[in-house]
Amino acid sequence: MSVPTSVVGFPRIGSDRELKKSIEGYWRGKHGIEDVKATAKLLRERHWKIQQQAGISLIPSNDFSYYDQMLDTAILLGVVPQRYKRLSLDAEDTLFAMGRGYQGDKGDVTALPMKKWFTTNYHYLVPEIDDSVSISLSSDKPFEEFTEAKALGITTKPVLIGPYTFLKLARRPEGAPLAIDRGLIEQTAKAYADVLERFAGLGVDWVQFDEPYLVLDKERGDLELFKSLYTKILPHRKSTNGTVRLLLQTYFGHVRDSYETLGLLGFDGLGLDFVEGRNENLAALEEFGVSENTTIFAGVVNGRNIWRNDYAVSLGVLDAVRKVTDRVAVSTASSLLHVPFSVAREDGLDAEVRRHFAFAVEKLDEIGELAELVQDNDEERKSSKALADNQALFDGHRVKADAAVSKRIAGLSEGEFNRKPARSERQRLQREELHLPLLPTTTIGSFPQTKEVRAERARLRHGEISQDDYDAFIRSQIDDVLSKQEAIGLDVLVHGEFERNDMVEYFGQNLNGFLFTKNAWVQSYGTRCVKPPIVWSDVSRAQPITVAWSAYAQSRTDRVVKGMLTGPVTILNWSWPREDITHEQQTTQLALAIRDEVLDLEAAGIKVIQIDEAALREKLPLRRSDWHKEYLDWAIPAFRLVHSGVKAGTQIHTHMCYSEFNDIIRDIDAMDADVISFEASRSDLTVLDAIQEAHFETEAGPGVYDIHSPRIPSQQEIEDRIGDILAKMDKASVWINPDCGLKTRGNAETWPSLEHMVAAAKAVRERLER
Ligand code: GLN
Ligand code: ZN
Repeated sequence: MSVPTSVVGFPRIGSDRELKKSIEGYWRGKHGIEDVKATAKLLRERHWKIQQQAGISLIPSNDFSYYDQMLDTAILLGVVPQRYKRLSLDAEDTLFAMGRGYQGDKGDVTALPMKKWFTTNYHYLVPEIDDSVSISLSSDKPFEEFTEAKALGITTKPVLIGPYTFLKLARRPEGAPLAIDRGLIEQTAKAYADVLERFAGLGVDWVQFDEPYLVLDKERGDLELFKSLYTKILPHRKSTNGTVRLLLQTYFGHVRDSYETLGLLGFDGLGLDFVEGRNENLAALEEFGVSENTTIFAGVVNGRNIWRNDYAVSLGVLDAVRKVTDRVAVSTASSLLHVPFSVAREDGLDAEVRRHFAFAVEKLDEIGELAELVQDNDEERKSSKALADNQALFDGHRVKADAAVSKRIAGLSEGEFNRKPARSERQRLQREELHLPLLPTTTIGSFPQTKEVRAERARLRHGEISQDDYDAFIRSQIDDVLSKQEAIGLDVLVHGEFERNDMVEYFGQNLNGFLFTKNAWVQSYGTRCVKPPIVWSDVSRAQPITVAWSAYAQSRTDRVVKGMLTGPVTILNWSWPREDITHEQQTTQLALAIRDEVLDLEAAGIKVIQIDEAALREKLPLRRSDWHKEYLDWAIPAFRLVHSGVKAGTQIHTHMCYSEFNDIIRDIDAMDADVISFEASRSDLTVLDAIQEAHFETEAGPGVYDIHSPRIPSQQEIEDRIGDILAKMDKASVWINPDCGLKTRGNAETWPSLEHMVAAAKAVRERLER
């Protein structure tokens, strides 16, 4: 019997981002929802067939989504807050209203809050359970998609976010914590039981429930909650028409602390991550064994890197698992949602380079090859060409080390990780230097990247215009955005970031050591995709990157212009990192490169420099016990290394795209920036309590309106928000800014929103100064 293979989830956006284009076309009124549905159907068919042709035995369905799988789960369970129901939109528009807000003739509502999905750069929508909600099975989506595949002759494995993860991530209105009481547990368990029965009736063989929340540290009552949900759900695998098998899928870490409980519940399959949780999951398996009716789905093919799988390592794991049980399936370690579609189209990369990469499609082949190799005996493995070819990728050194970089790192002293003088002294000097009013207003850096800007960049790329033409065009954009910012009265101006396509790729292009792809897009949130660059070898700065643009902007206005950089931790977290040296080593190399840029900006007369660490929290280990030793202890010093060389009067800002830093607030303060801006309007404001309690010293601008939504906030709304902020923070340390950069927005909504923001700040400022 051959070893079964399984895929946890497949990218849904399409090899050419067809889904994104179709949905955005619908939003712009270019075509109707029927067009979107047709595109979606086509993509599902294509993706199932690719997996079928690769010989995958358990192909996922319901991993497709128009916007987000958490949002789909909420809708499936009837978790639609009253304010969206009241709009009386049809199904898809309700979904989009929850995802991105709605402003139109039916009403005006904000979107659900959005958070990062565990340690990925994917954002999910946070389900909100208000008093109008009673949980019950409320949509046919998973069943329809199973039937759709069945009609194509493919029996899929439907995939759902499991009840435990769903409830742990759901919130009450305003982001208040959800009390998971008996009633809620009963309702939720019943809804999932109904799902299983429906599937059993449809002739489904395997169903997969994703429970990634299991890899987190447990709080009191967590395991009891898990048990009480599943003891109610599991008996419903049988219906009069048949029986389904339930695969409990975990990923992004290990489940050592719950493994025994999982074993006792009697799942038919247990999906374990042997990439990120390798040692602990193996140890648990060896300690507690596996019950004879359970199949272990061994996640050995990384779902979130782009490098080829090291078969020797994976076979080591698979052999170890097979010592414990012979019921094994070879699987991805997580959904492939987090990797690009296929390497095949990256013809811009050398074949010699390309052979080191595996995107979603290539990972399917890796699963297949591993499933064959695992059954081979030593002799067969020795003569296997697949294995030999794979080994060749890992033998010897892929790239040569850069001696200058190693030397510079070896020579770093403690002082270079600490800025002098102390913050209070710097704040005094900076006040004298910058003459800013109370509640200074600013933006996060980028302004709308209009079609015109992107078209001009494309023309340069295609050689249709010269570099000089392009530079002149960017200068005219800068002039325009500066005069508009002056006109509405912003205090600290920005040059608008028109020269950059992306805050990470742009820097990568000016650093040694990076590679770029043409088409390696990965979904970030909703229809937004990102195309991370690849760290290929040692990193250093090739030439000044932003200096000319910032200096030009500063020469065109009397107000302060903020220089705009991306920090080392974010560059690494939003790139595909190397696997042959540590993240710490790569981040330190990046920190030195950006440090060079900071010092050059200062020398060019830039007095305020923002170093974005939008993704600092992203790779914070999921388990608290690993936070410092595995991450913060080097990530925070790396940030300080970037700015420790500037003069006391130079103001260093940083920015983060979320506000969940209550629990790392001291580490954020220890970055020793002078000012931080962060996303706050779509999330609860408990961060303000944390700032107050921790006596946070960094001046802060909690975003006063949501830039992920096209709606225009009113002046009053923003004044209210500022009021909330001032209730918790000292007015002398408050900055007023939007949540994030404006590049994804249009000018039509950006300028009125900013006008309202500046007017709100002025009104509050006048009241405070009266
Ligand atoms: N400076 C960047 C911008 O304004 C920051 C973007 C981000 O935080 N994601 O676009
Ligand atoms: Zn941001």
